[in-house]
Amino acid sequence: MSIADNLLKYKSELDSAKVELVAVSKNHPAEAVLTAYNAGQRVFGENLVQEMVEKQAQLPKDIQWHLIGHLQSNKVKYIAPFIQVIESVDSLKLLKEIDKQAAKNNRVIDCLLQVYIADEDTKFGLEYDALIELLRSEEFATCKNVRIVGLMGIATNNASEKQTQTEFQELKVLFEGIKLSFFRKDDYFKELSMGMSADYKLAIAEGSTMVRIGSSIFGKRKISTP
Ligand SMILES: *Cc1c(COP(=O)(O)O)cnc(C)c1O
Repeated sequence: MSIADNLLKYKSELDSAKVELVAVSKNHPAEAVLTAYNAGQRVFGENLVQEMVEKQAQLPKDIQWHLIGHLQSNKVKYIAPFIQVIESVDSLKLLKEIDKQAAKNNRVIDCLLQVYIADEDTKFGLEYDALIELLRSEEFATCKNVRIVGLMGIATNNASEKQTQTEFQELKVLFEGIKLSFFRKDDYFKELSMGMSADYKLAIAEGSTMVRIGSSIFGKRKISTP
């Protein structure tokens, strides 16, 4: 099937579930993004800053870019002028830098806190204790140019269905707890980004509001990325 056909299939499925589709275009050229754009998609995910910045410069300006990969603090400045959501915030240090760069650009940047849910060493993310510590910190309270709109998690690669389901369930429980404890009055804390090509159905069944789908829209990537 073509990129457009794949997209339309996902759109109808996800629209009826009221789940947002982040089309993950990493490792695919700007032309592939444009094809998806012309089929109606506006939200795209990239995991590398340089690749996102290059594509952003060439492509329509109403595209909403989500950064989904590990972000180094010294690169925040390159995306701060245009980024829609940084889904991969995994430290207070990074959050403070995003806050600083957002202020410089006179904007508030939406962020998801990435939580470590997988049973492997290769995934980034905050452990439970670090997440709570960040949210309780005075430094976080002074960050006025970032808005935490929810949580993100990546399940263990190639795990059993049961394990994947458990990881998503745990993230959902954590999400509800964090909402009650820290964002009770904040309507904007509502996104739970979980689910990729292989496991998005399980993720939606467990309460995902945002799925990040790459290969089953754009085809296999030439280079495998973390
Ligand atoms: C690459 C990537 C995806 C998309 O993965 P697919 O299996 O191609 O759908 C989703 N989330 C993150 C964080 C990624 O790096």
